[in-house]
Amino acid sequence: MRMSVSETMAACQARGDIRAFAEVLVESATQDSRAAGPGALFCCLPGSRADGHDFAVRAVEQGASAVLAARELPGLSGKAPVLVVEDVQRAMGLLARHWRRRVRPVVAALSGSAGKTTAKEMLASITTVMGPSIKNPGNFNNQLGLPLSMLAAGAEHRTWVLELGISRVGDMEELAGICEPDLAVVHNVGPAHLEGLGDLRGVARAKAALLGFVGESGTALANKDYPELWAEAKKANPRVKAMSTRDPSAENFCTYKGCSANGMGVYSLMLEGSPLEVSLSCQGAHLAENVLAAAAAARALGATGEQIREGLARAEFPKGRFAVRDTGTCVVIDDTYNANPLSMTAAIGAARALCGAGPLALVLGEMGELGKERDQAHEELGRVIAASGCDVVRFKGPSAALVRLGLERSGFAGSFAEVREPSEIAELAAQASSTGGVVLFKGSRSQRMEEFLERFLSDH
Ligand code: ATP
Ligand code: MG
Repeated sequence: MRMSVSETMAACQARGDIRAFAEVLVESATQDSRAAGPGALFCCLPGSRADGHDFAVRAVEQGASAVLAARELPGLSGKAPVLVVEDVQRAMGLLARHWRRRVRPVVAALSGSAGKTTAKEMLASITTVMGPSIKNPGNFNNQLGLPLSMLAAGAEHRTWVLELGISRVGDMEELAGICEPDLAVVHNVGPAHLEGLGDLRGVARAKAALLGFVGESGTALANKDYPELWAEAKKANPRVKAMSTRDPSAENFCTYKGCSANGMGVYSLMLEGSPLEVSLSCQGAHLAENVLAAAAAARALGATGEQIREGLARAEFPKGRFAVRDTGTCVVIDDTYNANPLSMTAAIGAARALCGAGPLALVLGEMGELGKERDQAHEELGRVIAASGCDVVRFKGPSAALVRLGLERSGFAGSFAEVREPSEIAELAAQASSTGGVVLFKGSRSQRMEEFLERFLSDH
């Protein structure tokens, strides 16, 4: 961002005496006082341990140009402009929207229940081949992360690729209202964030709302393989274009072809009648819908087949998203970033596909935020595990007994144990060294399954 204090104040609908500072430039926004350097707008937010207002003086001492606060800060009188608003986070959203309207980039917004970040990385990698573009850093996809991502853009960035993450009804309207997308994509829905969104239909309705935010000249894309999503998508935007990984007659289609000799995942695409084969450093049939979302969105943004191919080949993915690693004696899959029923089922299926008829071990953790669906989802997980024909299951979390029940009801013949500490999988590490095969690590963020993975690798 780059705007004067007076422009910033008007965009935030703030009050305050800024006369001496009206023309001072604001060139970045942050809520982190340690990062509030020269030119920054320091945004005072309440944290779980500290209140941002207590750090405003320090931010100004470090060179911050202005402070956005929920109350007057007499300690800064005459030293720095203090822009006072009722709700700092909301004001950041208004400021981000103002910046978006001022520099008029093309905004591509993605949402879905599993794979927003991976799809965003794919699309941003393609748009970077096309020209200067930005994306949310990491997982900055909510009412705070989205404005921060947008305000980090410069006027030269002509494409903004943004993932939007929601957990409650109304979140999508807020986020889409901030970023005003020209292109909207929803690539899947699953039972995630049920505590705030109700049931699958509720998830679909909440996500599909994004598609209604693109104007007449914009593009909306949704995956028709999810019936609830497709029904809601057509309601939200009758011009929505279809994507599918099952129906070759869909406007946009993609299938996973397998793993190439150099370890790249190969995917075959058909984008509105044009065939394209691409390869990238992520694996598995379950990611075909992400590749499709990125490629179809890129095509709508004007990318050529060559740009799509090059961008996908270069894409890098953050840690813990189905990263496949050969230890020499077995294959370890690090999918520890997070889990919900959709991504858990997909990862188990992809792990089975990867190991063929060989031994498969699963080290899994509780799936969180499922509300009243928790028990049923974990019992169902037992059935999914049993159907995968895996040999060994270790499970961490309060629903272990329900997973066991699901396994028993499906006639599971392998070994199951509940685990609490990483040291409890030592014998599994020893066993995998002799049997080989594939070991999948996955669970909700709160379960910290990466600690089990690290222990496995050090014992292995
Ligand atoms: P968050 O809601 O935390 O932002 P996200 O939607 O951005 O998550 P990712 O971070 O890309 O999703 O991936 C989260 C997990 O879902 C990872 O374990 C990843 O392997 C898995 N995953 C990614 N894409 C899919 C997909 N299309 N289907 C099922 N699982 C997927
Ligand atoms: Mg994400």
